Parts: sequence; C-alpha cells; structure tokens
Amino acid sequence: MTLRDRTRIRPFFLNPSISNLFSALSIAMMAPLAVKNMFFGKYVLSLLIVLFIAAIIHRMLAIKAGRETLVSGVVTLTLMVATNLASIHYLGLYGVFWIYPSAIACFFLLPRATANLFALSLTVLAAAMSWPMLDHQIVIRLVASAGLTILFLNVAVGVISSQETRLIKQSLLDPLTGVFNRRHMDTCLQDAISQFCDCGQTATLLLIDIDNFKSINDRFGHTTGDAVICEVADLLLQNSAGTAPLFRLGGEEFILLLDKSDSKTAMLRAEKLRRIIERADILTGRPVSVSIGVAEVRADQSTSHWIRDADKALYLAKNSGRNQVRCA
Ligand code: GH3
Ligand code: MG
Ligand code: MG
Repeated sequence: MTLRDRTRIRPFFLNPSISNLFSALSIAMMAPLAVKNMFFGKYVLSLLIVLFIAAIIHRMLAIKAGRETLVSGVVTLTLMVATNLASIHYLGLYGVFWIYPSAIACFFLLPRATANLFALSLTVLAAAMSWPMLDHQIVIRLVASAGLTILFLNVAVGVISSQETRLIKQSLLDPLTGVFNRRHMDTCLQDAISQFCDCGQTATLLLIDIDNFKSINDRFGHTTGDAVICEVADLLLQNSAGTAPLFRLGGEEFILLLDKSDSKTAMLRAEKLRRIIERADILTGRPVSVSIGVAEVRADQSTSHWIRDADKALYLAKNSGRNQVRCA
C-alpha cells in the first residue's frame, strides 16, 4: 500500500479545489462557443459542447458529494475528444488549436496513465482527421507540438508528484520510525470519532508503551534505545493486519487505531501484539516488553479524552506489573 493510499491524500492535479477551478474556467470558455455554433448552424458541435459542459457540471457535483469516479472522468474526456474532433471537422485549421488546452485538461481530470492515453489518442485522432483537410506540413507540426506539450506535462506532473510525496512524508511521518506522527494521528482519531457519531461505526485505540525503557537507554545507550523503538514499531506494523494505522505518540509510546473494532476484539489483537513483542529477540541479554491500554471510542468525545481513557488503562497495566493488556 502506497503512502497516498494510506493517507488518502489526492495528488495536486486531482485535488478537488484545483479540479473545480479548472472545470469552472472550462465552462466559462465553452458556454459562449456553444451559443455561437448554434447561431451559425453547427448544431452537432453545439450539442457536443453542451453535453461536455453537462458532464463537467455533473463531475463537479459528484466531487462535492465525494462520489466522483474514474468513469465520470472518462465520460467527460470522451465528450471533450468528440467536441475537439467535431470542431476540426467543422472549422478545419481553426478547430485544431483546441487540442492543446484539451491535452492539459486530461491531467486535471484523470490519473496520469489514463490522462496520457486520452491526450495521445486525441492527438492521433486530430492528426488523422486533419490529414485530408490540411497541408501535411501543418499536421506534422501539430503532432510534434502536441506531443511535446504532453511530454512537458509528464515532466511537470512527475516533478510535482515527487515533491508532494516528499512533503507528505515530512509532514505526516515520524522521522525515526517511519510510522505516522502525532499530527496525522489527531486527524485520524478525529475522523474515527466523527464516523462513530455519524453512522455508529465503532473504533478502538491501543496505547502501547515499552516497559522500563529508560533503563534500556541507561544501560545500552541512546542509539540502542532508538534501535529498540524502531524494532518495536516494525513488529507492530508487520502484525497490525495492514490497514490499522500506527502512530508514534512520542518517546517509546505508540497508538494503533483499529477501525470497525470493539474493545473485545481489540483486547485480543492487543494481547497478540504483546506476546509477539515479548517473544521477539529485540535486545540480547535484556527482555523487551510492552504494556497496552485499550479504549473504545465514545460519542462526543475529544481525541484527548479518548487517549486519556487509554492512558488510564495503560496505567492499570503498568501498576499490575507491566507486560500486560488492560481495557478502559
Ligand atoms: P514505564 O515502564 O513506566 O513506561 O517506564 P519507562 O522507563 O519506559 O518510562 P519513562 O517515560 O520514564 O521513560 C521513557 C524514556 O524514553 C525517557 C526518555 O529519555 C526516553 N526517550 C524519549 N524519546 C526517546 C527517543 O527518541 N529515543 C530514545 N532512545 N529514548 C527516548
Ligand atoms: Mg512512556
Ligand atoms: Mg515506557
């Protein structure tokens, strides 16, 4: 699972606000052309522009409702390609110039691979349609310049995507362990509380704390302490069933968020994790264990209250001798 899948952060080009701005500008540009072509009797072209605008509006509404799909993007771009070809058919050379903004639009509506497919198909179809109508020198230059535009777009999308990924990593991941940081934890816990209040979907968090960690630092040094924190994080990640996000709260404390899980199921998962850490050979000559506090989400609770519940349970586990799981 990629970092984007795990964080559900959309790429810049497919960001809803950017997409909507792009759509609004397209409508403002295309609407007068629909009227103009209707006025001059180019009814098919006018109808295609109207359908294209309708598809853009439908997509904007779907984005607003959080229900937009790949299909709606494909339908919108298919209508855009059809409109482009119709404009070349009716207007000849004057219709050709629209393929440049159209090729760019592909990258704001669809993921990169599909966008390339549409932009290249548009160029090839436009060239094929223009070939019998226009000077061949013009068509060759059309293909070359549109191809170059698509190439530059790919370079721009590639650079922006890698910068974005770097920023996402810096803002959401803990630099030592690579698990999510506290900032992202607040967002995810808040989302889980909202899901519970809105549709009753339960969630449980595990507050996991390495036992007597200070003595590991004192005896083996801070660098070994860091390695122990990383090893525990790795073990928790490998054994947390893939989808449960793991956060480092700070120091040697982690939070694992179990979606759609009540405290009973979470207790079993926590006990399994406790045993995995206990049995792992993390440090030679010194057993490493964790205590875990379990707390199920409650309605109208703040994230800090939820963590406080888990902290109380963790306190019980520590007071009962450590290397234990307790529930709030
Ligand atoms: P308990 O069983 O009650 O949890 O005892 P503990 O010793 O684990 O708890 P305590 O909170 O007293 O100690 C945590 C220590 O973790 C204190 C701090 O020096 C150390 N620590 C905090 N952050 C880091 C870090 O990034 N790396 C290392 N190596 N140590 C850290
Ligand atoms: Mg601690
Ligand atoms: Mg500790």
